[in-house]
Amino acid sequence: MIIGILDLQGAVREHRTSLERLGVAVRAVKDVSDLDGLSGIVFPGGESTAMQRLAAGSLRDRLRELAHNGFPMFGTCAGMILLANTVDGKATPHLGGMDIAVARNASGRQVHSFETTLAVKGIGPDVPAVFIRAPYIVRIGPDVDALAEYNETIVMARQGQLLVASFHPELTEDVRIHRMFVDIARQHRHQNEIQQKQEATQL
Ligand code: GLN
Repeated sequence: MIIGILDLQGAVREHRTSLERLGVAVRAVKDVSDLDGLSGIVFPGGESTAMQRLAAGSLRDRLRELAHNGFPMFGTCAGMILLANTVDGKATPHLGGMDIAVARNASGRQVHSFETTLAVKGIGPDVPAVFIRAPYIVRIGPDVDALAEYNETIVMARQGQLLVASFHPELTEDVRIHRMFVDIARQHRHQNEIQQKQEATQL
């Protein structure tokens, strides 16, 4: 199983380290051809406007298609902004796929970056979280599960195979959130294999 990391800008190396600590093979994704054979992809934190400019053309089109078709994707911070259907009150022109509205830079400027611990549904009460000019989730659709809150604001959520966090789990030693995503990808791969076998026997 190989997990990709969108490698255009942002905290790519840190995600690689977290995934490799879980024993997962990782591939940097710079081009649409790098998506072949992946079981999931991570969108790192960074600057969403820069990432949007760089993820263009066929790469963007294919990522959009995957985001809307149940492919496992994990977006942290700026990566979450790429997957949100609504950003700062406007329907996003970018990938979308997740029925959430986000407010950019809601946690304040760079100087207001902070570290805390969060209770994360399905993981535990004590997950370390680093917030850096973080976007907050201001609305979720009916199919979205809120997984963590900070000051009564949703900061982590899941919809099907899409997982997003306002903060940066890749900047801590704690790999439990990455493990949650790897489990989503593994499960999805397994289901695909079963489906393919069923289709093959029906022929
Ligand atoms: N504020 C940044 C943006 O809007 C995200 C910050 C981050 O990823 N740490 O893209």
